Amino acid sequence: MTESGNPIQNDPSCQSDHDPQSLPVTAAWERIRTDLAPVRGIERVSTRLALGRVLAEPVTSGIDVPAHDNAAMDGYAIRGNDIPGSGNATLRCVGTVMAGHTLDGHLQSGECARIMTGAPMPAGADTVIMQENVHRDGDQVVITADEKAGQNVRPAGEDLRQGEIVLAAGQRVGTAELGMLGSLGLVEVPVYRRLRVAFFSTGDELCTAGSSLGPGQIYDSNRYTLYAALQALGAEATDMGVISDDPDTMEKAFADAASFADAIITSGGVSVGDADFVKTIMNRLGQVGFWKIAMRPGRPLAFGTIGEARFFGLPGNPVSVVATWYQFVQPALRRMMGEDPEPPTTFRVRTATDLRKRPGRTEFQRGILQRDDAGELVVTTTGSQGSGILRSVSLADCFIVLPHDSGDVAAGTMVDVQPFHGVMG
Ligand code: AMP
Ligand code: MG
Repeated sequence: MTESGNPIQNDPSCQSDHDPQSLPVTAAWERIRTDLAPVRGIERVSTRLALGRVLAEPVTSGIDVPAHDNAAMDGYAIRGNDIPGSGNATLRCVGTVMAGHTLDGHLQSGECARIMTGAPMPAGADTVIMQENVHRDGDQVVITADEKAGQNVRPAGEDLRQGEIVLAAGQRVGTAELGMLGSLGLVEVPVYRRLRVAFFSTGDELCTAGSSLGPGQIYDSNRYTLYAALQALGAEATDMGVISDDPDTMEKAFADAASFADAIITSGGVSVGDADFVKTIMNRLGQVGFWKIAMRPGRPLAFGTIGEARFFGLPGNPVSVVATWYQFVQPALRRMMGEDPEPPTTFRVRTATDLRKRPGRTEFQRGILQRDDAGELVVTTTGSQGSGILRSVSLADCFIVLPHDSGDVAAGTMVDVQPFHGVMG
């Protein structure tokens, strides 16, 4: 039984899965997406502080990267015309050019220069011969007919061209992008201001770490989940604690949050029984829709506006928080941060285990990707999929996404998976 005392109304699993009012996952996302725009407000931050931020303007390259034609190998810079048609040719070595230095003069036919990787090509040279491919004796360098004119040279601007837009507005700065900004020699870059997000948990049963559990109480985990998720997203997160299931306290919390936050995220109190009471408050403070989404876990979701702030009311069950975060809240906040996020990466693999599934809802089961004995990538369930079993997420590295109409899935069937983490941040 839930805290508001009505086991039938409050238990989503007791409601029909074919409820015509249920909103498909894609339709719910489309409604959220079209309703959101990036926050206004741009700031210039020093380049390193742009990590994890979203570019507010396109970045145009002021220089060619690399700035000059240079050697891709340690070896000898030559004129391509000096490569013999057959047999060998002997060239005279006229100098050495190290990275960060230049060689004066113009390389003439019959000459070569010792060159190190990254060193600028001497004037007149257009080809680099790997040092392993030559025979050197004093200043005599013997090359063979196997070489190709133009090889082992990195042309100026092969990475980024002067005047070209190299990063678009709306691009999140990750590892590679920070390196690119560095390669342009930029001291600071324009980014959207940080998104301010207030979050709190609702429920009389919730106890915060540091206090002992009273009768019927549990420790609040959702605020930890949301804290982690918001940190990873680079939001400026404000933890407003646990709010009891009391209309006045809740109304005050929402009004407080709306006074400073761009977005408010709560968990709990949006299932059918609870929603009636939260709905009354919301009707006073803003415009919020209470949706039943055809997904599991994470059926109820409230979305709307309170004052100037966007509101996401997530269900209370800990795994539902994770599922609704990934499917809706994270992409929504990214949109508010100035990105236009792509749908989550999905690929198909064989399930190594049977999966139980009821038609009429999209299920986000938790899975582990691994290789089977034949070396094929397969997914295995993490076991019990109850929406209170957070361990099912901790053990997992992907969602197994079972579509709306699918029923039980037998081992060996191809299924869609969404990996939790990419390689690079
Ligand atoms: P509710 O959506 O408020 O009906 O809550 C659904 C279930 O999630 C109940 O079993 C709650 O006790 C549990 N729950 C709600 N909020 C939290 C939380 N912050 N941490 C852990 N469990 C929670
Ligand atoms: Mg509750």
